[in-house]
Amino acid sequence: MFQEIYSPVQKIEIDLLDNLFVKRDDLIDPYISGNKWRKLKLILEKAKLENKKHLVTFGGAYSNHLVATAAAAARFHLKSTAFVRGEQVKNEMLLLCSLFGMELIFVDRDSYKNKPQLFEDHFGNDRNVYFIDEGGASKEAVDGCTEIINELSETYDHIFVAAGTGTTAAGLLKAIQAKNLPTKLHVIPVLKGGDFIKTEIAKYTSITEHLILHTEFHFGGYAKTTPELIQFIKTFTAKTGLLLDPVYTAKMFFAIFDLQHKNKISFTDKILAIHTGGLLGLLGMKDKF
Ligand SMILES: *Cc1c(COP(=O)(O)O)cnc(C)c1O
Repeated sequence: MFQEIYSPVQKIEIDLLDNLFVKRDDLIDPYISGNKWRKLKLILEKAKLENKKHLVTFGGAYSNHLVATAAAAARFHLKSTAFVRGEQVKNEMLLLCSLFGMELIFVDRDSYKNKPQLFEDHFGNDRNVYFIDEGGASKEAVDGCTEIINELSETYDHIFVAAGTGTTAAGLLKAIQAKNLPTKLHVIPVLKGGDFIKTEIAKYTSITEHLILHTEFHFGGYAKTTPELIQFIKTFTAKTGLLLDPVYTAKMFFAIFDLQHKNKISFTDKILAIHTGGLLGLLGMKDKF
């Protein structure tokens, strides 16, 4: 029932870069994409173990997590419901959620802030329901993400990952610490004021010198872009054949190139970028290109 993970490490050949590799978590599944599968895997196991029949979660109208949860629920024969932040809208992501059988409940931004209350009001007495926090954030999600590191057969000087909640980064850091690797983990928050990621990571593992947080690559904030970032995606994709999404992975790859050009990272160091998937995010940004 649990799907095989297909996430090879590939070398990227672009410009003069000779030591850049990418872990293709985007290939795991088109809908349960990248880190969303990593995060859901142990959550699904736990839900099954507890005999739950119905996953309930939360997200914005363009959330990769909602599509992933909807697709995973369908495949694992579970019902799914999502509380969607904001007024009722239609878009490609929510269409996919509906096709996978997810029920969507649109809630205004104020009510959305109190997720436990929403859950209690709608499902308080329903013992079949399993609560999944926004973005899947949980200990199970962190532990699922440690597997990314455990699958590696080589050691890298630097590993790069984009961060929304920091859950994926926490899993990577935890595994790097457990294996005592000499690797630096570079985390690129995609939200403005990304220092909060440190607090999030600290909920799951200790902050050690392995962690380097780069808060200057948010490009205006969550789901914000600039013409420079859009141009970067076009050039990168045309030169490598790898698609990037403007919300997460483009900001991470931009950071790698920028840090190398500013000589903050040596061109000879061995770098691994985690492609966390999420390419459906492109659908919400069509008019930017
Ligand atoms: C959700 C998502 C992230 C952020 O993961 P966190 O664990 O919330 O930090 C990164 N990349 C992609 C493509 C995503 O969809």
